[in-house]
Amino acid sequence: MKYTISALLTTALCSTLMTGCNATQPVPSTANTATNTTANIMAKTNLQPTAVEKRTAPVRPAHPPKPPLPSTVSGPLPDPYWIADPKNYEVDAHKTVNEHVPVPILEYHEVNYWPGDAATLKPGQFKQEIKWLHQEGFHTINLGQLYGAMYFGYKLPKRPVVLNFDDGYESTYLKAFPILKNYGYQGTVFMVSGFVLNKPNRAVRFPKLTASELRIMQQSGLIDIESHTVHHTNLDTVSLTRAKAELTQSSRSLQRVVHHPMKFFCYPYGGYTKSELTTVKQAGYILAVTEHEGYANARQGAVTLDRIPVLDYTTMQQFKAKLQPSLR
Ligand SMILES: [Zn+2]
Repeated sequence: MKYTISALLTTALCSTLMTGCNATQPVPSTANTATNTTANIMAKTNLQPTAVEKRTAPVRPAHPPKPPLPSTVSGPLPDPYWIADPKNYEVDAHKTVNEHVPVPILEYHEVNYWPGDAATLKPGQFKQEIKWLHQEGFHTINLGQLYGAMYFGYKLPKRPVVLNFDDGYESTYLKAFPILKNYGYQGTVFMVSGFVLNKPNRAVRFPKLTASELRIMQQSGLIDIESHTVHHTNLDTVSLTRAKAELTQSSRSLQRVVHHPMKFFCYPYGGYTKSELTTVKQAGYILAVTEHEGYANARQGAVTLDRIPVLDYTTMQQFKAKLQPSLR
């Protein structure tokens, strides 16, 4: 398993941050009452899709207004709350792998600032970075779109970028989500299923997301919830049997919360063994992201994609430098 120095540092920092986690087992919560559809958000913020977005938007059937996501599910999954559903982006089933789609996947953790934890962000840092991305014409895409572009001929908008939020900190909902809504930007939350709370617990360091907050974000049409294991387990350190359990049980558990199958996975601490890569695919995941630093592309393999970490000491100048390949 290769690591860059930066990736190792990120892993160590993530490890420090995770030590402060106060994990609890997921408990079903009551239904939320959110009604923030993408259309509503666009209307509220006067944001209009660009010509590129219109051209590349998936063709989806017309649906009546969506009711809130139910807190429990019996029978078929309700449709269509899942913005990253890969079926939306399968344009050409006979298309060969496109190895020439380099896309930056930005890796965020805790959006609150906790001095001493580099995997957090300085006050105002996230807002400034998102503002700059928008000014430079970056278009956020979800992982379903990235998968479609790599394997099914889906055409990405100009300057695509993926935003990841690892672990499931409540700051993703309280701080990042309002900023993303303001710009109509998409993101992926890689949730540790065992961290999902029934009600907010802000008395601890690094508060985690509640089931209701996850559903509100998923229903917004901007945020996709995907898997980051049950216990934030480093898969490089456990048996294949245990790894399989982490992959499948987190998928089942999160599906009960947000009502779509988990198709995208993030390795805690970036850890995995070669034999686990097959297990990841067998568990139903079609893309997975690592701590290897760089732009993602299909040559890396669908379940070993590179990312770009953003940390509290990442200056604006460094942030811009990391994204220079997109500006050429
Ligand atoms: Zn993590």
